[in-house]
Amino acid sequence: MSRLVVVSNRVSLPQKSGDAPAGGLAVALQAALEEHGGIWMGWSGKSSGAKEPAPLDMQQHGNITYALTDLTKTDVEEYYHGFANRVLWPICHYRMDLAEYGRKEMAGYFRVNRFFAHKLAPLIQEDDVIWVHDYHLIPLAAELRQMGLKNKIGFFLHIPWPPADVLFTMPVHEEIMKNLSYYDLVGFQTDHDLANFVGGLVREGIGDALEGGKLTSYGRTFKGGFYPISIETAMFAEYAKKAASNVIVRKAKQSVEGRDLIIGVDRLDYSKGITQRIDAFEHFVKSNPAHHNRVTYLQITPKSRSEVPEYEQMQRMVAEQAGRVNGAIGTVDWVPIRYINRSIGRPVLAGLYRLARIGLVTPLRDGMNLVAKEYVAAQDPENPGVLVLSRFAGAARELRGALLVNPYDIEGTANAIARGINMPIEERKERWGRMMEHLLEHDVTRWCDDFLEDLTAA
Ligand code: UDP
Repeated sequence: MSRLVVVSNRVSLPQKSGDAPAGGLAVALQAALEEHGGIWMGWSGKSSGAKEPAPLDMQQHGNITYALTDLTKTDVEEYYHGFANRVLWPICHYRMDLAEYGRKEMAGYFRVNRFFAHKLAPLIQEDDVIWVHDYHLIPLAAELRQMGLKNKIGFFLHIPWPPADVLFTMPVHEEIMKNLSYYDLVGFQTDHDLANFVGGLVREGIGDALEGGKLTSYGRTFKGGFYPISIETAMFAEYAKKAASNVIVRKAKQSVEGRDLIIGVDRLDYSKGITQRIDAFEHFVKSNPAHHNRVTYLQITPKSRSEVPEYEQMQRMVAEQAGRVNGAIGTVDWVPIRYINRSIGRPVLAGLYRLARIGLVTPLRDGMNLVAKEYVAAQDPENPGVLVLSRFAGAARELRGALLVNPYDIEGTANAIARGINMPIEERKERWGRMMEHLLEHDVTRWCDDFLEDLTAA
């Protein structure tokens, strides 16, 4: 393959010694870039009050050139907090009620994409293959084409793609659909997301599905596919094994004192279903008196996007709810819910997953949900825990050994918790074995290779 150019909103710079290890996505993309040689371009995360951001900050590490751009404060406000996080994120997670359609923010989104294209284009060589990531950068290919670039350009959406009736509540849905047709390959997480996209095109008479995954719309032909993202399965399993000797993991084990541990790990986000999950846990405890004082539910929830009002409200709401439930069902020697508002490094998380009898992953909507995959990878093969998984997470399309739940159904989720806690070892091993086999074969390297193979062939 020719040189690879990755573009994403944020860039993962190589780890310095002492840093926490990078996540699976960064590891896979860095490996692909290192192999083919290439560029990773994105926002530096910095913003300035200047009218024009500074020139690109170019950093060479091995075979990879990192090209970082600052943005102006207005750009960040409109493109990132405004359109990406307050329109595209809620709409793609089926939350029409939370979308805010400011014209200024919409214009800012398209303007910043044009700005990215102008910064990127001079760095591109004729046969470079360009891979654009996620909802922040949908218009990038159209902008690059307008500047005359004929390279192969692929797009991968990390979040869900909604059905037409949801998408079309967004005033600029037509522009967004049209912009996607400028790619050679548009990749989604699951078959459901792809079907929603194709269904929208066909139903609205915008385009058609041809043979071999080809699509046509707005006079262009391109390919659509689904590529479920994954984790570095074998390495994560190794972290989990090693973490038994980690101080934090040992302390956690001691403090659980023979109770069954239930674990939830999510960024604080309304798509994650955290309040419904706490309700389900409360219902489980109330309807299973034999488990009083026999379970501990650990919810690890780092804060995110505090600039967006819904996230700030949620922070208060979840903290209050956890406190209320502890007050209602706890006893002098039992705190049923431990709620932590801080980020924990993945090697330690791996050890905590392994301690937990239940991994509770119940988003209301999620592109994939890597926590579900990490929980499975971290289990002890001789005594694996049970994954309770929302049917609305992309991961549910693959992890068929999980107990699938509807997170809106509080009693149903509570019943699945009870079933998981009481599940015999043979059934736990059988379910886990199926999922682990799948994840070992379909790890993040495979995901990256599959996408790039299809893009170069497109
Ligand atoms: N994560 C972490 N520390 C935490 C909480 C989460 O490192 O305290 C990691 C987690 O291990 C996973 C990622 O953040 O790799 C979350 O990915 P996921 O797909 O589950 O959700 P997202 O946050 O991308 O919506």
